Amino acid sequence: MSRATLAGEWDHVIAGGGTAGCVLAARLSEQTGLRVLLLEAGGAYPGPALSVPLAGMRQTVNYSWKYFTQPQAGLAQRRISYPFGKLLGGSSSTNAMMYYRGSAASYDRWERLGCAGWDFTSLLPYFRKSERWQHGSSEYHGGSGPVDVSEPRHVAPFSRAFVEGCLERGMPLVPDFNLPAAEGAGLFAVMQRRGKRVNAATAYLQPARPRVDIKTGALVHRVVIERGRAVGVEFSIGSGELCLARVRREVVVSAGALNSPKILMLSGIGPAAPLRALGIPVQLVLEGVGQNLQDHLRIPVLYECGRRSPGEMLLLGSGRARLRAS
Ligand SMILES: Cc1cc2nc3c(=O)[nH]c(=O)nc-3n(C[C@H](O)[C@H](O)[C@H](O)COP(=O)(O)OP(=O)(O)OC[C@H]3O[C@@H](n4cnc5c(N)ncnc54)[C@H](O)[C@@H]3O)c2cc1C
Repeated sequence: MSRATLAGEWDHVIAGGGTAGCVLAARLSEQTGLRVLLLEAGGAYPGPALSVPLAGMRQTVNYSWKYFTQPQAGLAQRRISYPFGKLLGGSSSTNAMMYYRGSAASYDRWERLGCAGWDFTSLLPYFRKSERWQHGSSEYHGGSGPVDVSEPRHVAPFSRAFVEGCLERGMPLVPDFNLPAAEGAGLFAVMQRRGKRVNAATAYLQPARPRVDIKTGALVHRVVIERGRAVGVEFSIGSGELCLARVRREVVVSAGALNSPKILMLSGIGPAAPLRALGIPVQLVLEGVGQNLQDHLRIPVLYECGRRSPGEMLLLGSGRARLRAS
């Protein structure tokens, strides 16, 4: 297939306009004089269709890559839905909006395993910088960042009852899951502004739009490497037309946990044996690419309530049951 070259050359080309891609596009474009191109396979963020909690959750399937796992031996050979957002803002446009950084001990463990600079103390300033916490700045929260974080505006009566039940069983109350002692029961803070989703597209990319060239519907195939150097990105647009965007400084691959290694491997960067088996010319042998994916299993359990009142959906607990409210 012939390849059209996009007019122009960019300092940075970013493959994937999701959570990380939007942040990087915004930050890189703050440096004056630099041209930044953001390539996103999905479309624009649709606003209200996804920004209203619960109503939006039903729409997410329309903005997803619709991936499934291989049959899982430990799960009765079922193929499990593996959702990733496919639009500007990526999975931050379709996720559950819970603002939980995770345990400090996990970051410290990554640091001990060799990931220098990823310990919790080193990362906390970045968390604070990105956050605008409803109750203002403190040791663990930021008060003036682009991402609004607030307590949920509506809490279903059954959610309160569930937490109260946990406390009755002796669990400690966690008033804020982003403070160090976060083991127990409580309600999550959410990435929302006045009850609506805040994602990377609205928080970061929207204010930076005049400074960033954005191309949606652009499926990245590979990084083009010449004499050991990344010189461009090959992608196709809606009609299937193949394009090349040339780059002066840097290509950033931020296409998510599955598609980033896929793009790297299609570019010839990865473990040598599988690349050779697929006939992909090896540019750089990096054994770790495409290996060791780790994720957490989550079991959402829906309890249907007999009584009608707003928000009577409970996404908590284990087992499968039908709860009848008296
Ligand atoms: C259903 C769901 C619920 C979640 N709930 C929460 C939550 O409540 N709280 C929380 O903190 N985290 C949650 N997460 C996790 C969080 O959203 C992700 O960890 C985070 O968004 C990942 O960011 P990313 O930049 O790595 O990838 P993404 O945000 O997924 O971005 C990748 C982007 O690259 C694009 N892309 C991929 N391949 C190509 C290609 N070949 N060419 C061009 N573009 C491409 C994609 O379309 C996408 O826009 C959830 C995730 C999911 C899927």
